[in-house]
Amino acid sequence: MKKGLLIIYSGPSGVGKGTVREHFIDDQDLNLVYSISMTTRKPRKDEVDKVDYFFVSEEEFQDAIKNYELLEYASFVGNSYGTPKQYVEDMRNKGYNVILEIEVEGAKQIMKNASDHLSIFLLPPNMDELENRIRNRNSEPEEVVQKRLSKAESELHMVDEYDYSVCNTTPEQAAAEIKRIIKENI
Ligand code: 5GP
Repeated sequence: MKKGLLIIYSGPSGVGKGTVREHFIDDQDLNLVYSISMTTRKPRKDEVDKVDYFFVSEEEFQDAIKNYELLEYASFVGNSYGTPKQYVEDMRNKGYNVILEIEVEGAKQIMKNASDHLSIFLLPPNMDELENRIRNRNSEPEEVVQKRLSKAESELHMVDEYDYSVCNTTPEQAAAEIKRIIKENI
């Protein structure tokens, strides 16, 4: 059986990665599974442990690093995020294509170390739209919002490192483009 593809899916915080993903993840032709990350960030009020993230303590996160359990990891606006390695390997060995929804530093680690991957960067239609989305989450203090905004600007400079970029004009259109890209590469 052909091993599944590792698909790096990035884009600045607030660009709508999760919403777009919901429009393509269940497409039967793509044979996709979503890799749930580990994070030290506190859950937002609509987030569920082991569904949206594995929410862990700083100590648990450090243990995962020490035990080589993470495929990549990075810190983002004061919290740590990482991809559990075992799930990704198991699923790829079963032939599934695995979506890693990760920020750019973690993406760079994978681009350097894994030969068979596909990378897609989701762009916002403009910066005003991005700022509105980050603010409308309404879950973080102004200081964190400002950090996410400045991080978003620096992340946008990374777009050229990716195989493909897609603009999130609407979730439906962005998802359709992503489906086409994945189909072409699997
Ligand atoms: P948020 O706090 O908004 O959920 O996530 C912050 C950023 O971390 C987002 O860009 C998100 O895609 C990214 N992220 C989520 N999980 C991981 C991960 O496992 N590794 C890395 N490097 N970034 C992640």
